[in-house]
Amino acid sequence: MIAIIIILLAVLGTALGSFFNVLIYRLPRKESIIFPLSHCGECGKAIPPYLNIPIISYIMLGGKCKYCQARIHWHHLLVEIITPLILIGLFLQYGLFSLLFLKYAVMAMFLIPIFFIDAFHQIIPHKLSLPLIPLGLLFAFLPGGDVGIIEALVSAGIIFAFLVFLAYAYRLAKKADGIGGGDIWLLTAIAGFFGLLSMPYVVLMAALLGIIYFLIFVRDKSKGFAFGTFIAFTAVSWALLGAVKLVEKLPFL
Ligand SMILES: [Zn+2]
Repeated sequence: MIAIIIILLAVLGTALGSFFNVLIYRLPRKESIIFPLSHCGECGKAIPPYLNIPIISYIMLGGKCKYCQARIHWHHLLVEIITPLILIGLFLQYGLFSLLFLKYAVMAMFLIPIFFIDAFHQIIPHKLSLPLIPLGLLFAFLPGGDVGIIEALVSAGIIFAFLVFLAYAYRLAKKADGIGGGDIWLLTAIAGFFGLLSMPYVVLMAALLGIIYFLIFVRDKSKGFAFGTFIAFTAVSWALLGAVKLVEKLPFL
């Protein structure tokens, strides 16, 4: 039974990953996500369905467009691999018929495109970050969750107010934007999903990973880095680890 569920989640995940690749390409370019159908970003030729099979097509075509030989970026393959892995990981952590599986699967399905779009373009599309806020509150409202509706509302409110205050203080002090609006919406949404207790850990871990990445990989230090990418990564890891429940059990709280 478990094997069948894993196979089904793998198929669903690769299909979703394929859709996320469309989002990752089109949302930052403000293109429609439905029309036109899949096409090569270089030569514009439509990609027929038999060449649009997740993972398999990429490998068979050697990561190149069939018509113009333009390289298809490796992240396409990565997205189609990690999406099913995350779904299977959440299933193993929470079980299939639990609210928590559904809750964190939905959260991850928004965070995967956010991870890549912020990494490539340093923006977090509002079309992805804003719907996550009511979704988190909806899951808090339903029975069987890990964070109650009051806690979710208070957590999201506190994180939002704190970040807005921080953004204004930074702007006053440095005359430049420190925290982007997209980061504020994203962290507000995640606070609704995780509750307040998890937030210091999530923010610190994301910041730490971001700083390590910045110091090692970013040559041009005057450039900022995509904080949303690290927030998304940390939040999905947090859900995979079942850390919301673990944090509540810490002895000093
Ligand atoms: Zn092409």
